[in-house]
Amino acid sequence: MIDTERPDAGVEWRGLTRGELAATLVEHGVPGGHAQRLFGHLHRRQAPIETFGAMSLRQRSRLADVERPTVCTLVERHAAGASDETEKLVFRLRDGRRVEGVIIPEGPRSTFCVSSQVGCAMACVFCATARLGLERALTVSEIIAQIYTARARCEAVGRPLRNVVFMGMGEPLHHYDVTRRALEILTDPAGISLGFPRITVSTVGLAPRIAQLGADFGGRIQLAVSVNAGRQATRARIMPIGTTYDLDALRAAIAAYPLPRNRYVLLEYVLLAGLTDTPDELAALAAWVRDLPAIVNLIPFNPFADAPETLQSPADADVSRAFATLRAAGVPVSVRQPRGRRAVAACGQLARLRPE
Ligand code: SAH
Repeated sequence: MIDTERPDAGVEWRGLTRGELAATLVEHGVPGGHAQRLFGHLHRRQAPIETFGAMSLRQRSRLADVERPTVCTLVERHAAGASDETEKLVFRLRDGRRVEGVIIPEGPRSTFCVSSQVGCAMACVFCATARLGLERALTVSEIIAQIYTARARCEAVGRPLRNVVFMGMGEPLHHYDVTRRALEILTDPAGISLGFPRITVSTVGLAPRIAQLGADFGGRIQLAVSVNAGRQATRARIMPIGTTYDLDALRAAIAAYPLPRNRYVLLEYVLLAGLTDTPDELAALAAWVRDLPAIVNLIPFNPFADAPETLQSPADADVSRAFATLRAAGVPVSVRQPRGRRAVAACGQLARLRPE
């Protein structure tokens, strides 16, 4: 199976699910039965197709001939520094475009925040990535390549990769098929076999795609939803997608997500001073969350260059107050500490801006 965007450009072997790999082998006159071991060779051993010993030299060279090498080159690393060990990775793609990922150490292990698109079409007013507009979707293998590079880096610094969060640039459910195939590859037992609960997909709230993700993976992918406001009018003002899928539709999609027992949906909530951290907004949020199997994760707004002046970070005391308000209302709640700000790597800051 060939890249659908450029059908004549060749095959990115690491961008194929195991089923697609089998079909593509057959297309090139190689028995599909090789797919399982070849998949392990490409993903688990991270070896090139030319060295796959189970096939004849002729077969291997035929497959290598149609290969389109994936270009996702690590070109910059920015450490946040001081006590913050967050590190931003910048990747350059074949067309010269760049995307960013973030390694977030947590104790002895790391979480990697991966990008799914170059730029983003969702236009949330508080997010720097939105400023770029959507340049293009990433290919499956560009997503996979970011993760493998981060994984090697985490290994090298002695804090192995544990979690992957689709919270980098882009909306992962926009080009859903790309994300679905990447998830299938990452969780394939013949590959690196990341456990389902270790993968989080964060969405702006594309309700029908939430249903699709739930159906395709039986609810096992950790779902995160950017709610960001308690009242419909406020949400629609800061997140244009909120007009298409309103808070009622979103609530219904979350309630219908087929979560395994004892698991929760993560509800991200950006605290904007005077806008989303007000008592009215939080009361509306608490009412909206009631009875959902969910945890609210408060994210104090991370400022970025050219952010609208009306958007301000809350004072620490206001973050504590918001936390206490929700808690008093019986809402499970946590606060995401701003990390990576010095490397311009914090939530909502990924727009290829360089640290000063
Ligand atoms: N498009 C997906 C994936 C991006 S995740 C989504 O919207 O969920 C990025 C998270 O950071 C989202 O929860 C978003 O609400 C939050 N965010 C965006 N801009 C931010 C900013 N400037 N400060 C803090 N959080 C921000």
